[in-house]
Amino acid sequence: MSEHARPPEDSRRRVILSDKPLSSTAKKVLRPSGPQDDTRRTVLLDRDGTINVEKNYLTDPAQLELLPGATEGLRSLQAAGCVLVVVTNQSAVGRGYMGIERLDEINSCFTALLAAEGVRLDGIYACPHAPWDGCGCRKPLPGLVKRAESGLGFQAASAIIIGDNHSDIELGRNVRAKTILVRTGHGREVEAQGTASPDFIADDLREAADLVLSGITQGVPSPSTPHAVPDRAQPS
Ligand SMILES: [Mg+2]
Ligand SMILES: [Zn+2]
Repeated sequence: MSEHARPPEDSRRRVILSDKPLSSTAKKVLRPSGPQDDTRRTVLLDRDGTINVEKNYLTDPAQLELLPGATEGLRSLQAAGCVLVVVTNQSAVGRGYMGIERLDEINSCFTALLAAEGVRLDGIYACPHAPWDGCGCRKPLPGLVKRAESGLGFQAASAIIIGDNHSDIELGRNVRAKTILVRTGHGREVEAQGTASPDFIADDLREAADLVLSGITQGVPSPSTPHAVPDRAQPS
């Protein structure tokens, strides 16, 4: 994979730590390069359990471990021109397990890990609150997506959300985006419970990327309409 070794330095999209004060409710770690072309599909990605291994409150950069297939999937989406945005609940901050600076450090390492694999994210939006804080940005509430929409200039209703948990799928419903549940992280358990209604289910991020790039995810009804067979894209 030498062609993916280290991406060339690109001043337009290099990582810039948020210019917002640390008390900011949801932090945007990366700065977008500018309003995006409408023809570029935006893919909103959960972090833990979807891109990296779920660690149940990841509080140390050393715990970051990319899931098999994750970078391949992200690279193919990127190569097809998709805008890649991470939206993540990080209540470990609100619960007092780590400070916001540590979250920044983890996200910087996460970005660097992906960059070393040839993947450049267009943004990371994180909710640092605890469930009892009553914020509007903890998934499945739409705050992070709204913030990303205005920061990056896309329409959530034409985006796709990929994640491993109920909150990711409900977020999709709340912003009328298509959803793919991945069977990594909590995904298999969520699938077995049968209480989430994703538009599609994929084994991992690589397979989810294939679904997006096949165009099939654009053909399903919106989440507000009666549901498509969630698993129909999954050959058995
Ligand atoms: Mg997750
Ligand atoms: Zn929040």
